[in-house]
Amino acid sequence: MVKDPVSNAAPGAGGAVKSRRNPAADDGTAGSTGDGAQWAAVVARDGSADGQFVYAVRTTGVYCRPSCPSRTARRENVRFFETTHAARAAGFRACKRCRPDAAPLALQQADAVLAACRALEASDSGIALAALAAAAGLSAHHFHRVFKRVTGVTPKAYFRAVQTRRVQSGLPAASSVTEAIYASGYNSAGRFYGSGAAALGMAPLAYRAGGAGQSIAYAVESCSLGQVIVAATARGVCAIELGDAGADLGERLRRRFPKAHFTPGDADFRRHVAQVLAYIEHPQGLLDLPLDVQGTVFQQRVWQALRAIPSGRTISYAELAGAIGRPGAARAVAQACASNPLAVAVPCHRVVRGDGALSGYRWGVERKAELLRREAREIR
Ligand SMILES: [Zn+2]
Repeated sequence: MVKDPVSNAAPGAGGAVKSRRNPAADDGTAGSTGDGAQWAAVVARDGSADGQFVYAVRTTGVYCRPSCPSRTARRENVRFFETTHAARAAGFRACKRCRPDAAPLALQQADAVLAACRALEASDSGIALAALAAAAGLSAHHFHRVFKRVTGVTPKAYFRAVQTRRVQSGLPAASSVTEAIYASGYNSAGRFYGSGAAALGMAPLAYRAGGAGQSIAYAVESCSLGQVIVAATARGVCAIELGDAGADLGERLRRRFPKAHFTPGDADFRRHVAQVLAYIEHPQGLLDLPLDVQGTVFQQRVWQALRAIPSGRTISYAELAGAIGRPGAARAVAQACASNPLAVAVPCHRVVRGDGALSGYRWGVERKAELLRREAREIR
C-alpha cells in the first residue's frame, strides 16, 4: 500500500495537476509519462488496455477504446483520457463501433458469472451448465471457461461449495459468497473503476457479526468542517464521518460494529488520521489510504467509480450510473452514494444533480459545498 502524503504539494505550485494518481485532474488529458505505453496499446489494439483509458481523435471528434478496430489515427491527433467522462467533458463523443461507454467486456462477463452464482446459491439441486450458459447468453463451452476464470472453480464445484457451506455453517450464504467470488473477479475486471490507485479494500466475509473478533482503532478530531471520526481495522480505514458532536460520531461507530474491540490505534493509524485531516483542508488528487469497507457488489462498484472522479470535478447521478455501465440506475446510484461510509476517501460529495444543484450530502450539504469550494481552489 503506497501512502502518499497528500499535504506536501503546495496549493498553486502545480497542485492536483501534478498528482501522479490523477493525471486527468488538469484538462482531462492523461499525463505525458504514460503516453508511450498508451499509444503502443492503441497501435496494437490491445484489448487488455480497455477500461484503463480511452483515446480521442481530434480530427473525428470521437473517443475509442484502445482495442477499437477502426483505422489507427495519426499520433499527433490523439489525446488520452483516463475516463470516458473526461473525454466527453473535453467535447468528444463516443465511437459507435467500439462503444467505449459500455461496461468493459471483462466486467460484463463478471456480471454474467455473478448472476450464475446467485442462481446456483438459490437452487436446491444445482443447475445444468447449458441452462446457466443460456442465461448468460454464451455457449456452454465459453461460459464454462469464463466462469472458471472469474471464480477459479467450475460451476459444478461452485455449487458443491455452496452446499458444503450451507451444511457447515447454516450461513445465509447467498450475498456474502457471491460478493467474495465477485470481489476476486472484480479486481481483474474493474481496473477502470480503481483509477489506478489502491482499490477499495474488499472484505466480503468480515463484519458479519458486527465486528466480532475485530480490533478497530478510532479517533475523533476537530477540523475546519466540525468533528471528524476516522476508524480502521487491521486491513484499512473502515469509517470516515463528519459531524457536529464527536460523541455522536463515536456512538454511531459503536452501533455499526457493536461487537468490535476498540483501540486508540498505533502510529500507522495516527498517520492515516493525519492524512485525512490534511486532505479535508487541502483536497487534492485521491485520498490514498488503504480502505476496508463492506458493501454490496453494486455499492462497491459505485464507490470505486466515485474514486475515479478527479478532485475539482463533479458528475451527475445519471452520468455516474452510465460510468458503471448501468444507465437508468441513477436512483440506486444515489442511494449507494448516500450509504458511503468513507467521507472524502470515497468522494461522494463530487456527485451533484443533473441541473448542477448540489443535492444532498450524508454529512450536511454545507460541508459538501465547502469541500467542492476547496477543491476548486486547490486546482487553480
Ligand atoms: Zn472506436
